[in-house]
Amino acid sequence: MRITFLGTNGWYDTDTGNTVCILIRTERFDLVLDAGTGFAKLDRSIPAETERELYLFLSHFHLDHIMGLHTLAKFKFPRGLSIWGPEGTRTAMGTLINTPFSMPLADLPFDVELHEIPADLKLLPFPVEARSMQHASLTLGYRFTIDGKVIAYCPDTGYCENAVAIARDADLLIAECAFKSGEHADNWPHLNPETAARIAREGDVKRMVLIHFDAERYPTLQDRKEAETVAKKTFEYTVAALDGMEVDV
Ligand SMILES: [Zn+2]
Ligand SMILES: [Zn+2]
Repeated sequence: MRITFLGTNGWYDTDTGNTVCILIRTERFDLVLDAGTGFAKLDRSIPAETERELYLFLSHFHLDHIMGLHTLAKFKFPRGLSIWGPEGTRTAMGTLINTPFSMPLADLPFDVELHEIPADLKLLPFPVEARSMQHASLTLGYRFTIDGKVIAYCPDTGYCENAVAIARDADLLIAECAFKSGEHADNWPHLNPETAARIAREGDVKRMVLIHFDAERYPTLQDRKEAETVAKKTFEYTVAALDGMEVDV
């Protein structure tokens, strides 16, 4: 499978990139993780005539993870779009993808389904495990088993046992890294290079890609390289993502 990092910033867009959005192209399905402003670039990687079903997994409703949804009207998505997220997804999407914020769901040029986790998990055609993370609002981390590989996604969170459980033995861990080295905050938890690497090491993953670099704290790509260097001291197989980066698993 091929994983394309369409948006790798946290919080807001800067010269380093768009906010968080990741595309996972598997043999039969296209999975999208979060819908930050990088979401608008999906059609660069998904052919217009695709036969694959499209699943969007939202970790939480902070705007840097959903504001790309106002670009939905530009897409065709011949197989429609299935949106999955934590409890509250139907209400949040029904508000956001609606008047006066954007074109209403029902008017989009393709079908959209809304699903909430954990209630609807059994409806998915591939195994997905979701666990709540440690953040300022309800946030889900995800673990996908597909084409014989495990992809783990630890979005906005502080270090927690659930993050390690989601990462366990993954072929690839995609972990956020909003904070700088040594930084943490109890009221609005995020990972820093050390805590992300700790999750990767304790989870015994094969490799880790860092994303969601806070726009204020990481103004340049060089700042990301420094985070990668710090993380590598704890977990060697770490790469700091850039917008447009592709990884084959
Ligand atoms: Zn965020
Ligand atoms: Zn957040």
